[in-house]
Amino acid sequence: MAVQKATNIHWHEGNFTRAERWKALNSVGCTMWFTGLSASGKSTIASALEQSLVNAGINCYRLDGDNIRFGLNKNLGFSADDRAENIRRIGEVAKLFADSGCVALTSFISPYRKDRDLCRELHEKDKTGAMVFIEVFVDTPIDVCEQRDPKGLYKKARAGELKGFTGIDDPYEAPANPELVLKPATMSVDQCVAACMELLKAKGVLKG
Ligand code: ADP
Repeated sequence: MAVQKATNIHWHEGNFTRAERWKALNSVGCTMWFTGLSASGKSTIASALEQSLVNAGINCYRLDGDNIRFGLNKNLGFSADDRAENIRRIGEVAKLFADSGCVALTSFISPYRKDRDLCRELHEKDKTGAMVFIEVFVDTPIDVCEQRDPKGLYKKARAGELKGFTGIDDPYEAPANPELVLKPATMSVDQCVAACMELLKAKGVLKG
């Protein structure tokens, strides 16, 4: 858990509320948090969903695991502490996007339940106009992920060349109560995207 280091800092309120911003922009801020094993399909589905949302005129932005590790989180590795800090920062960034009225799509393995719950809490504890937080469990069995292995990571982990790999020698804690479960082993990418779009409509993020 990150501690507050700086002292003598004060929150500066803007000139209008989040609700006023969203109304003016005709948007509802939301974070759709994709979690699942490596190669389960998070990035593929989030990218296809991003395309559908942008085509529908929705301001959305994808925060992707590997991409973020090239920049904001380049100083973090895969130890439990670094994974927790990785997810905490993403949670905070996604919250900023959602606050601005954007739909943030995050695709991170995010294997530990308490780290994901912290991100949910960040969004939900702020009561000044509810930001929608949707946890999407990309539920692909490990044998399917391992068969796909688009980056050759399972092969490396099985050979002992990659330590602490989720699902092999590091745990994956499946969500207890996700808002949505996708099963890419039996659902096409289009079907997964359609299920996401339907839920976004039900939550009032997507209109019409
Ligand atoms: P992750 O982001 O979870 O690590 P990726 O999206 O990078 O996973 O990789 C998933 C792989 O599985 C891709 O090569 C993708 O083309 C393939 N795939 C096959 N069927 C599906 C499906 N129904 N949904 C998502 N990905 C699929």
